[in-house]
Amino acid sequence: MDRFIYLDNAATTKTSPTVVEAMLPYFSEYYGNASGIYGIGVKSREAVNHSREIIAATIGARPEEIYFTAGGTESDNWALKAAAELFRGSKNHLITTRIEHHAILHTCEYLERAGIEVTYLNVDENGLVRPEELERAIRPETFLISVMFANNEIGSIQPIREIGEIAKKYGILFHTDAVQAYGQLPINVEELHIDLMSASAHKLNGPKGVGFLYIRRNLRIRSFVHGGAQERHRRAGTENVPGIVGFGQAAKEAAETMKARGESEIRLRDYLIDRVLKEIPYTRLNGHRTRRLPNNANFSFQFVEGETLLIMLDMEGICASSGSACTSGSLDPSHVLLALGLPDEIAHGSLRLTLSAETTREEIDMTVEKIKQIVGRLRGMSPQYEDFCRHLPA
Ligand SMILES: *Cc1c(COP(=O)(O)O)cnc(C)c1O
Repeated sequence: MDRFIYLDNAATTKTSPTVVEAMLPYFSEYYGNASGIYGIGVKSREAVNHSREIIAATIGARPEEIYFTAGGTESDNWALKAAAELFRGSKNHLITTRIEHHAILHTCEYLERAGIEVTYLNVDENGLVRPEELERAIRPETFLISVMFANNEIGSIQPIREIGEIAKKYGILFHTDAVQAYGQLPINVEELHIDLMSASAHKLNGPKGVGFLYIRRNLRIRSFVHGGAQERHRRAGTENVPGIVGFGQAAKEAAETMKARGESEIRLRDYLIDRVLKEIPYTRLNGHRTRRLPNNANFSFQFVEGETLLIMLDMEGICASSGSACTSGSLDPSHVLLALGLPDEIAHGSLRLTLSAETTREEIDMTVEKIKQIVGRLRGMSPQYEDFCRHLPA
């Protein structure tokens, strides 16, 4: 493949070479079933437990509170459906937000069809939940609050501590979809009063198809998959040993590099944001200026159709996104941008650029130049833009 610039790290990341290296022996050499009592089975079991310990330590949890799953979507499904079942017959209301990932929103729609009442909180113009609005939404029958840690489209970081405190005050379970935050931001489940938390390896340079759900000890959340005794009977099926080993290695690397990586990504992200806002008129930054993921920038270019911009960037070898992978392919504007109160036509013109530790200033410079050219060209062909310019004061 030709050289390309990859700026879609919120969709997925490159598996780090050291992660691949850590995984390889568990395909070809130590391929034993982790339930086996012989040497290579024990080797697999130890490797799984080692990953569990590493990951637990990164969030201030105990190893027995970490349950490996097939990814973020599965963890989100498990948390919401099992929490609803735990309270069936006693409480039937859950609170979430309008800007969640579809893994949460579509699960909520499913639960609504099953008789659960769901409140979808609005967010402010920066994409942040207002804690006082959350508190007002609480009812005696509320059993769960599920608010994402950081948003995958606009990067906004939610007031998780305040939300956790509210949940604790009212004795309501608190789940957070931390798929974007885990590996990028420090998280401590005790300090933040988190009861359930979803994460996924492929968002932090780990392999695809493996995630975890943190389940606070003593929570009687039901099994997600019934079968063998794996994952303390709660998520049956032969363990994805190489994947889990890779997740452990990725989690370790992410924790070690978090601070320095975050600082350098913030510098580069801010450079990108400043250049785009300064050099391309009629552009807005979506999401909070600073309360956002270190690697996230999301813009709307007035008079420009986002999908067209993406296709033209792709022709220049630049991989970007208009928001979530799940909305691309459809021409619906992003539900997240609509929740910010943006009109349809601006929500349509959005571009998400998400950096990695490997992104260079040269790549950002090249990308800004290409965006400038393409936005200029597209506006040049836009009757709305022409009309707009005609009405500008001289
Ligand atoms: C990517 C993502 C998911 C889905 O995770 P998968 O491992 O791809 O299933 C869920 N929530 C958020 C916020 C995400 O960014």
